[in-house]
Amino acid sequence: MPTPTSADFDLVELFLEELRLCKVHEGEQVAILSATGEWSEYVQALLKAATRLGAQAFNLSVQREQPRLAAVQGRHPYAGRELLLDMLKRCDMVIDLVGLLFSREQLDMQAAGVRILRIMEPPHVLRAMFPTPDLARRVERGREILMQGRHLHITSPYGTDIVYELGQYPVMSEYGYTEEPGRWDNFPSGFVFTQANDGAVNGTVVLRQGDIFAAFKRYLHSNVVLTVERGYVVKIDGDGLDADLMRTYMGSFKDPRAYAISHIGWGMNDAARWYHMHTTRHLNDEHIMNALSFYGNVLFSLGPNVELGGDNDTPCHMDIPMRGCSLKLDGVDIVRDGDIVHPDLKVERPVNPPTTTLPA
Ligand code: FE
Repeated sequence: MPTPTSADFDLVELFLEELRLCKVHEGEQVAILSATGEWSEYVQALLKAATRLGAQAFNLSVQREQPRLAAVQGRHPYAGRELLLDMLKRCDMVIDLVGLLFSREQLDMQAAGVRILRIMEPPHVLRAMFPTPDLARRVERGREILMQGRHLHITSPYGTDIVYELGQYPVMSEYGYTEEPGRWDNFPSGFVFTQANDGAVNGTVVLRQGDIFAAFKRYLHSNVVLTVERGYVVKIDGDGLDADLMRTYMGSFKDPRAYAISHIGWGMNDAARWYHMHTTRHLNDEHIMNALSFYGNVLFSLGPNVELGGDNDTPCHMDIPMRGCSLKLDGVDIVRDGDIVHPDLKVERPVNPPTTTLPA
């Protein structure tokens, strides 16, 4: 079956539904940020939807001068545009079609009370992973539980055994909409994460086939063994292409901070699909939220931690969703063998069952 395109969706209806969840209402100022020529169907549909809800909506569009990939690390086309940024700080809501994540400008807007919603996935992903209040409830409960945690232990039958000490950094939740002043979210999503205390991660991570290198939009085909000491990867072992890719790519940044352990958490969206990239990757190289959000994944990552208030702003960021892991918080089971087992967090009958039956 061919993958649907934007022509198959009523985008105005889709965004109306989303902006209602974001509680957009009469008299609000809603800015839609874009780069010239990008996501133009989304811009038009968002303007209509926000206006229909009574908001004063407008589109700001600037020329993107750097390659789109640069937006991954906060080098976005609004950087340094102080006049525009001053105005945006006075808005109620900013819809980001550009990629402001990891930037000072985004943090400044949030501090000024602006709620920010990032939308950078194709329409069929927005529809398939559409957020629900139940997802929001489970993700927020996950955030509360992770906030209490001090000792996070991840294991797998393949040899992963790593401990994160927690408490120094905040916990972030993403469930796909944002209704509170100053809160950021990504439409769609569905996971929680935090960052270990500085230097307090030790152990081994065994990446295996079917885990995902989000930065490469690639499923691993071979094992990679990471040795972690005091918050840094100190050794990358493995004979396959994946270990080679990882060593070479990370080495190319010539930045020791690339090897720092970054955020850690787990995916909770049972409408996200682990195999998604395989079925639709040719359509749009931008989307990755299925991979980060799928139910029961343990989302391991390397690189920057500015998003959580740290000072590592290395441009080398590796998000690596892992299948089949178990995650305990202070001895309490959260994820077991790739399935969420905590009673407050699990879905009785997930739309997409967890990918637990892995070959030995
Ligand atoms: Fe990340």
